[in-house]
Amino acid sequence: MIENLTLVEELKALDKKHFIHPTSSISQQQEKGPNMIIAEGKGIYLTDITGKKMIDGMSSLWNVNIGHGREELAEVAKEQMTKLAFNSCFSSFSNEPAIRLAAKLAQIAPGDLNAVFFTSGGSESNDTAIKMSRHYWLLKGQPNRQKIISRSKSYHGVAMGATSATGLKPFRDFTNSPSPDFYYVDGFSVEALRAKIEQEGPETIAAFITEPVQGAGGVNIAPENYFKEVRAICDEYGILMIADEVITGFGRTGKLFGMNHYEVAPDIMCFAKGVTSGYAQLGGVMFSDALHQAFIDLSQGTLLHGYTYSGHAMACSIALKNIEIIERENLVENSKAMGSELLKGLQYLQEKHSIIGDVRALGLMGGIQIVKDQQTKEAFHPPLSPKLVSEAEKRGLIIRAVTFDQDTLVLSPPLIIKKEEMNKMIDILDETFTVIE
Ligand code: PLP
Repeated sequence: MIENLTLVEELKALDKKHFIHPTSSISQQQEKGPNMIIAEGKGIYLTDITGKKMIDGMSSLWNVNIGHGREELAEVAKEQMTKLAFNSCFSSFSNEPAIRLAAKLAQIAPGDLNAVFFTSGGSESNDTAIKMSRHYWLLKGQPNRQKIISRSKSYHGVAMGATSATGLKPFRDFTNSPSPDFYYVDGFSVEALRAKIEQEGPETIAAFITEPVQGAGGVNIAPENYFKEVRAICDEYGILMIADEVITGFGRTGKLFGMNHYEVAPDIMCFAKGVTSGYAQLGGVMFSDALHQAFIDLSQGTLLHGYTYSGHAMACSIALKNIEIIERENLVENSKAMGSELLKGLQYLQEKHSIIGDVRALGLMGGIQIVKDQQTKEAFHPPLSPKLVSEAEKRGLIIRAVTFDQDTLVLSPPLIIKKEEMNKMIDILDETFTVIE
């Protein structure tokens, strides 16, 4: 029993004792407890339990695209929960929100990705995409096609398949997951992909999985023709192309989906995060007409893959309203317009501060590469970005440091951000770099 403590102290003590935080240092957590206990969110702002208001420069985890505190979504949730929160969609059961969301996604997704399998998040979506690619080749009579090629610095989540496909080494070493079938293609050279396919044997490869813009890998943006060439190579070798649009979907990059920048339609597309802007846990996988038809024609009995929450009625109703808001408020266009402001701001910072080695942004997905020396590109050891994050926090801005194999700050504000708010973010970053240098 904790007595005579303020509410903050009480919650911190309970957090330290009972709450294992996702992707965080358990020992630091034990030592310090939570840094901020968030109590409220409105628009681009989060407020902690002590009343400290901060710009949510990360849309929390790249996902709160429409901003916090939307009453419309609370109303939809209440209405749907009161009517039907959940029913199983196994076998032949269904519900209207899941059906309508599947149809809406088919309308807005690239190419002929017209069939959806629902999950509860990004990791489950990638596991599903991997399993279904292998299943597809089994049905097609090519059981040897089991390997999945992914890219270095990629992040696909923490379920076993998603972890195995993740190129960022610390995630794999830490979880010690077996990954005999996954290979890493470095950099942006499609020739490296071709070489890897040849080395492994094209007839053993089921799919190539890629984020349109790598997020946790440090906002790495592929050059203009890269994915067209990747698509051509996949077609040449009969390899399925999986786009992991978990971060990049639903307007984050200034187009509805990241692959739209490259005018490429994958065979399989994974989504999560922005589909509900974090108002409910939902993800999914979309399949091209050809794949969907193959599953229909070749299926042998029950597809033994399904999550309890696949097609969750309340989550799907939230997603429908969220997409309606994105369309109604032209948030994809705003993401593009504010994305150019973000890039301009980052370029201004790079000119001014010697520890910024590179800046990049596509829509509202931005990265700042920290270096000791701009000329030699020498890095700081240990990385400096965590310090920059805490200095920015002191000044009212939440951003994120990615330090796996690198030293990068990443930013991804809500798509509703206005110019004045973007300027404020840049001003805070400017001050932050000035105190650190
Ligand atoms: N794929 C990408 C590109 C991601 O960035 C993430 C999470 O950040 C995931 C997959 C995993 O999604 P989730 O955390 O919802 O399982």
